[in-house]
Amino acid sequence: MGARNASAARVVTRSSRGAESRHNNTLLTAPNQQRSYNKSTRSHAMRIAFIGLGNMGGPMATNLVKAGHDVCVFDLSEQAMQTLEDAGASRAASAEAVTQEAEVVVSMLPAGAHVKGLYLGKDGAPGLLDTLSGNPLIIDASTIAPDDSRTVGAAAAERGFAFVDAPVSGGVGGAVAGTLSFIVGGSDEGFERAKPVLEAMGKNIFHAGETGAGQVAKICNNMLLGILMSGTAEALALGVENGLDPAVLSEVMKQSSGGNWALNGYNPWPGVMEKAPASNGYQGGFHTDLMAKDLGLAWELALGSKSTVPMGSQARNLFALHAANGNGGLDFSSIQRLYRRDED
Ligand code: NAD
Repeated sequence: MGARNASAARVVTRSSRGAESRHNNTLLTAPNQQRSYNKSTRSHAMRIAFIGLGNMGGPMATNLVKAGHDVCVFDLSEQAMQTLEDAGASRAASAEAVTQEAEVVVSMLPAGAHVKGLYLGKDGAPGLLDTLSGNPLIIDASTIAPDDSRTVGAAAAERGFAFVDAPVSGGVGGAVAGTLSFIVGGSDEGFERAKPVLEAMGKNIFHAGETGAGQVAKICNNMLLGILMSGTAEALALGVENGLDPAVLSEVMKQSSGGNWALNGYNPWPGVMEKAPASNGYQGGFHTDLMAKDLGLAWELALGSKSTVPMGSQARNLFALHAANGNGGLDFSSIQRLYRRDED
């Protein structure tokens, strides 16, 4: 059940959205005018249940509202639900309640244990798969182990529900701007059903292969991101300790062969990039704990396939150490602090 080869992978970009949307209109379900929560007049609107309104899920759900969908939300955080209610969503008191009458269920949770607990249940309590009715499409956008996605996907299929894993790339900025990349694993039919929903939140929609393939691709991407961010922090610290201005060095490397995503839009040195988490005390963004989790997933994946990932292992140890030092709730670019002699 590996990812398809590159030539078989499909991507839908915004430039082709108009044609794609017209082509797929027949796949969309007409909105049920009898529903009990907010109504939309748009013909393509769907009733969407959204679970997990954190740094990513909050802005993603907001973009679904902006696109005219009828969005009902649930999170353990009252404040997160209030923010979405202010943005035009309705809210429910539980995961079971939020999915009532939903045509699409989207989850955006921290880790595999949360996703399995939500759908399969835990401590003897039933999961969502036991309480869902109708024919909803389930889209899990969390980053979790491919085997966890396959377990939930198989359980969903046993009950007749379509499931896709659709982890994202692009960070909080991409979530807010609606320019995320979605990397989908699942059947062709699941992908076609998910696409119009994902297009309201993202720019590039990839079909990586069968269930779990989205996670494999996402984990490879984040292993590379962890390596790039720690390498960027290391290079910046070396330059500064040898008398360079971090902004000047960043610009030089950006325009040179060391250029990468961290330098382009997520500089880890405080003050170099105004909107980066580094310039805001490393608040928000992508938590160090989550990066450590993803690098752990890469390690587990490598063990399973007997692959060699020396750089990924090094990055995992760096981020795990940084998290253990009390930085788990800071943005992952705070790895810069591991390399700095002075403090901010
Ligand atoms: P977060 O910690 O900010 O948000 C998670 C949210 O889930 C919280 O609001 C929490 O209250 C809620 N939650 C937890 N368990 C719940 C449950 N059982 N029911 C309802 N709500 C529950 O995390 P995030 O940064 O939004 O990341 C979410 C996922 O996206 C993770 O898997 C992460 O690896 C991935 N991701 C994050 C980023 C990023 O830049 N932050 C980028 C790409 C992918």
